[in-house]
Amino acid sequence: MSLVDANTTLPTQRSFIGGRYVESTSGECFDAVYPGTNRKICDVEQAGEREIELAVESATAGFHEWSAMPALERQRVLLRAVAILRERNDELAYLDTLDTGKPVAETTTEDVVTGADVIEFYAGIAQTLHGETIDFPGHGFARMKREPLGVCLGIGAWNYPIQIAMWKSGLALACGNSMIFKPAEVTPLSATRLAEIYLEAGVPAGVFNVVHGDARVGQALVEHPGIAKVSLTGEVGTGKVVMANAAQTLKKVTLELGGKSPIIVFDDADIDSARNAALTNNFYSTGQVCSNGTRVFVQRGVYESFLEPIAERVAALKVGDPFEPDTMIGPLVSAEHHRKVMHYMTSAKASGARHVVGGDVPDDPALADGNYVTPAVFADATDDMEFVTDEVFGPLMAVLPFDTEDEVLARANNTPYGLSGAVFSSDFARANRVANALQAGSVWINDYGTLPASLPFGGYKQSGVGRENGANAIEHYTQVKVIYSSLVEHPRYM
Ligand code: NDP
Repeated sequence: MSLVDANTTLPTQRSFIGGRYVESTSGECFDAVYPGTNRKICDVEQAGEREIELAVESATAGFHEWSAMPALERQRVLLRAVAILRERNDELAYLDTLDTGKPVAETTTEDVVTGADVIEFYAGIAQTLHGETIDFPGHGFARMKREPLGVCLGIGAWNYPIQIAMWKSGLALACGNSMIFKPAEVTPLSATRLAEIYLEAGVPAGVFNVVHGDARVGQALVEHPGIAKVSLTGEVGTGKVVMANAAQTLKKVTLELGGKSPIIVFDDADIDSARNAALTNNFYSTGQVCSNGTRVFVQRGVYESFLEPIAERVAALKVGDPFEPDTMIGPLVSAEHHRKVMHYMTSAKASGARHVVGGDVPDDPALADGNYVTPAVFADATDDMEFVTDEVFGPLMAVLPFDTEDEVLARANNTPYGLSGAVFSSDFARANRVANALQAGSVWINDYGTLPASLPFGGYKQSGVGRENGANAIEHYTQVKVIYSSLVEHPRYM
């Protein structure tokens, strides 16, 4: 096992199609960059038209082979992949740290681990995808089969590169589909390692392909008539474009998009627990998590005591080299994203909200070349402030006071997003009342962010379409065929 580090350079990265690395015909490359110093790690070849066609051809052939395999065999192969992924956990985690800047404390314990859990969960479900039979006495019977869709396209965001590839492919492959996966341009490194591991585990060549490239490559794949379904993780704006383009060929669509999720803390809550949840779910992954609870509504009676230790707690989070095991806050993923997040830090400072802590570029000269920012908290925020309405996708927590349950519910739901939310209260009835009324796909009571593989994840409103994870997500990767068998002679027409 070889672990990469902050100084690692890699050879040119190519698309992985039909079980092998394929040289691009586009003549274009883009850079993979380490966010800790903004130095180049390697070139990545942008796929050309020929590689896109080859990927669809390979995935089509792969689909025919894979979908014809007994479910038990598919299950065994996927479980072998899970075992290899767990063996290579640290190797893959360090690679994602090099690509994303997320601390190894997170990538070694979360990203590959939770991805493998999902593949294992769906491997277990592969054999249970049975049909149903309905009898029509005196006439015949119908059997209803659940069949895979065909070639599925996965398009990844940059914040959980290998985990997103594992979530999408585990579900698609367990249902008998093949997949073409396009990683985000800024995090291209780990998806092809997953492709190698699937191959080693016994997944036939062509069943999982990785195609590198920017939005042009994504768009060409979304529009390709040989692809049955697209699942995107990305921004709301990208989701709208992908859905519109997919409509030209009426592809099935799953969209896992952004959020601006509320955490509601009532006077009777366990305040330490609520504060812990708020801090974790604003600053984990340097705030680059779609489900983060970035609007923290705290009832007036406990408002100041909730805030009191926060400046000290947040200032103590170690910002720095993500390869150091005690680093909590790594660099943001790219210089471009750093500019966007700093815009919101400046906007928050000028908004009139109370500046509690952070929001600066650290003055440590060792961090000067990277995309670093100190985690920030602003209190007394109001609902209309730019950093409160927009998805910042950085370490910026807004704390807002409230008085009544009705008021906070109206304010929490007053957003086009609906990904997640939480309520902290020791009043069982109130906690459940509020959870029922929150317009979000995942709501926690006295908790935040627990997402085992068995629970469906996805958004209400503009946070998404469809679900990933959990047993009912198979609805989005299979289709039902009815086969009616007659037991009688067909009646005469005339
Ligand atoms: P983007 O929407 O910018 O990009 C997502 C992917 O879509 C990238 O691979 C991108 O390629 C590709 N893409 C862009 N335009 C097109 C197009 N026209 N056709 C096809 N593909 C296209 O998202 P980010 O990568 O910036 O990720 C951050 C966003 O992802 C945040 O909004 C976050 O909330 C959301 N997210 C949602 C999650 C969820 O499960 N709900 C989980 C994680 C993140 P390229 O990289 O080359 O631009």
